[in-house]
Amino acid sequence: MNLPDHKTKIVCTIGPASRSEAVLEELIEQGMNVARLNFAHGTLKTHKEDIRRIRAVAVKLQRYCLIMVDLPGPKIRIGKLRDDSLLLEKGDKVILTIRDILGTPDRIPVEYKRLPESVSPGSLIFLNDGFIQLQVEKILADEVFCRTIIGGPLLSHKGLNLPGVKIFTDVVSESDLTFVDFALEEGIDTFGVSFAETADDIMKVREFAGKRGKSVYVVAKIERAEAIKNIDEILDAADAIMIARGDLGVQIPLEDVPSVQKKLIHKANLLGRPVITATQMLVSMTENIRPTRAEVSDVANAILDGTDAVMLSEETAIGRYPVEAVEMMAKIATSAEREWEAVKALSDLPAYFRKGEGYGKTTIKDIISLNAVEAARALNIHYIIVPAQSAGAPCLISRFKPDCWILSFGDNEKANNFRNLSYGVCPIFMENKTGSRLDMIMEFIDNSGIAQRGDRVIFVEGTAADDMNGVDLLRIITVR
Ligand code: ATP
Ligand code: MG
Repeated sequence: MNLPDHKTKIVCTIGPASRSEAVLEELIEQGMNVARLNFAHGTLKTHKEDIRRIRAVAVKLQRYCLIMVDLPGPKIRIGKLRDDSLLLEKGDKVILTIRDILGTPDRIPVEYKRLPESVSPGSLIFLNDGFIQLQVEKILADEVFCRTIIGGPLLSHKGLNLPGVKIFTDVVSESDLTFVDFALEEGIDTFGVSFAETADDIMKVREFAGKRGKSVYVVAKIERAEAIKNIDEILDAADAIMIARGDLGVQIPLEDVPSVQKKLIHKANLLGRPVITATQMLVSMTENIRPTRAEVSDVANAILDGTDAVMLSEETAIGRYPVEAVEMMAKIATSAEREWEAVKALSDLPAYFRKGEGYGKTTIKDIISLNAVEAARALNIHYIIVPAQSAGAPCLISRFKPDCWILSFGDNEKANNFRNLSYGVCPIFMENKTGSRLDMIMEFIDNSGIAQRGDRVIFVEGTAADDMNGVDLLRIITVR
């Protein structure tokens, strides 16, 4: 079995720069675990093709690759530009219009009909995660006249933020649900909910899928101040979270983002929810083959904070070096993971559970999963084996970031795919035949050659028939 040198998972946004079979193949080879399709861009036709191509490549390489559909949510965006890109320079006058036109350097369409009534002379308008700033000078009917305060290049469909303005739209809109419908038809089961504010936003997607007889994994994108306030209920309702630092850095003071990131990762770790850190991680690699020192530090620090996964956005969607960006992330992860103990940057998660605190209180699952990791370390064991397919055990063990791999066996491909998001978890398909699961796994170990006679492995399982998510058994087994 061929396991990578690092255990941190890598999420890649797929776009024009990465949708070919050849590039997808290289991305997976270099370490992509999750392919993210941002439904705010592209068309249903390209998404459909991308889904098929990603699956075909994963099958060809015999690797798991989770496909996550990111729902656009209520993000205000500019419309299509005539030349797909333009340059705004400081001092330039520019009109934002709610008319349906193709954008030019002096008139840019905006897909939010209430824009003129939402701003007043003097208001600031941010484009592209705050990279470009405009100031409103006057408003005439359906057009907002602005002057460019900070200029820069602008592409079609980039986001627009109105600091301090309440946007009156549902977090999960009708059009998002149309996307869910489409994606479910394509067999997708993992959705990112943008701008989630409450548990209800998560449940809306879950219930919508439920009515169609599908169970789904929901990743709550944390990018609003309200989400930070309601993080407990959101963590409770969601299967994973994403720290979406792009919009977060506009919605809360930019300088607060690093500490918020650390707090969110810590909470998600306590609960054993996979967490993705996203946005601009290696953004200079969109144009350059080498990242900046600051970007490399950012990726390493997110890993040291305890993130499960790191994400690439434009780097892989439209960048010049998508494969090199993944390769770079894998290298940074390998180094950061190796230095973990030495830099002691990780908060002491086990201490919470030992004190009986945990997430509210310490549970049996917490203690079994912690002991599995501690036993592996103390006895120098290389694999923790989890037979249950849908139970939360792999995530619960993964949050302690063990040195060993967690082999998660199951016959549910959806669950296997989702496990691929968690740090150090290697999902393995195993048919659910009758007979002892332990015997089957020992047979796998024999055949795969991962352990020799006399080596030890750790086996973690839930034994209560009435609790699919239970984890109450820890065994240390010597291979015979
Ligand atoms: P979000 O707020 O959801 O991150 P975004 O606009 O920042 O939205 P990303 O997913 O971060 O988008 O991707 C970065 C950029 O890559 C996009 O702004 C867009 O220009 C481009 N992009 C992403 N996906 C696609 C796609 N499927 N087709 C064309 N361009 C894409
Ligand atoms: Mg983005």
